[in-house]
Amino acid sequence: MTSLTRRALIAGTAATAAAYTLPAFAALTAFKHGDFDVTVVSDGHLVLPVSFLAADADPAERAAMLAAAGQSGDTYNSPTNVTLLKHGNDLILIDTGSGDRFMPTAGKMWDNLKTAGIDKAKITKVVFTHGHPDHLWGTVDEFDELMLPNASFHVAAAEWDFWNGDNAMRGLPAERAGFVTGARRNYAAIKDRVAMFKDGDEIVSGLQIVSTPGHTQGHVSLALKGGDGLIVTGDVLTHPMISFVHPEWKPAADHVVDQAVTTRKQLLDRLATDKSKIIGFHLPYPGVGRVERKDGAYRYVAAT
Ligand SMILES: [Zn+2]
Repeated sequence: MTSLTRRALIAGTAATAAAYTLPAFAALTAFKHGDFDVTVVSDGHLVLPVSFLAADADPAERAAMLAAAGQSGDTYNSPTNVTLLKHGNDLILIDTGSGDRFMPTAGKMWDNLKTAGIDKAKITKVVFTHGHPDHLWGTVDEFDELMLPNASFHVAAAEWDFWNGDNAMRGLPAERAGFVTGARRNYAAIKDRVAMFKDGDEIVSGLQIVSTPGHTQGHVSLALKGGDGLIVTGDVLTHPMISFVHPEWKPAADHVVDQAVTTRKQLLDRLATDKSKIIGFHLPYPGVGRVERKDGAYRYVAAT
């Protein structure tokens, strides 16, 4: 498809973006929370070296944690779960997944939405937890054009400034310099439609930004009102065993490692105290569950 044809199609769909009912689809997880219809759609998974989870950890203890999560070998599969919220006339996507230029096992979300009968042209808002490839690079297609013709985009000012600033290269190992190029490419595509937010801001009524920095400089989670609360945690909690039993371990993906540990411990304490529901981007699909205290640390209890 040429970009001209694509633009014509986009123009044609703009007029029909209005109130939208999410279709039922067995392969998606969907439930109600407060004023929100919550759907979790898989973007596929990442394949990562196990050392990536906690380079500083004792290898034997790390292997035991992985075995307890049903994982073995030198690599592990990290699920990628994208959250979609319906609220009134808004259809709100939290992160855009990996797109087609990160890993062949990821970037499946757009196809999965299409299969489920969810028209991406109806998505009105996108909120980004942070600027890593698996959360941001699905924003554009192979022509660097926006996948979402009718959405506004919402980014933490601290995150936008980090990736677009001079320190971005210095904050990453050299082998991940491509992360900066990719973040800038996707951010450039939304620059005319982006709104910056800060800690405590509401995107829509009942959907609040919770600053959870450390994984990246401007990383955020999202809190949904209703019941005991629901927190979309982003990448504060990235593994169903390690993040809960050893929140002090330091995943290689965390940019500001000591701050990430502090944030992880604070969020776990809040989640266990409030008994909030969580959606974890990298927890086993759909990543919906709760946090409980256990033996001086925590455990993840998947929703059944
Ligand atoms: Zn991630």
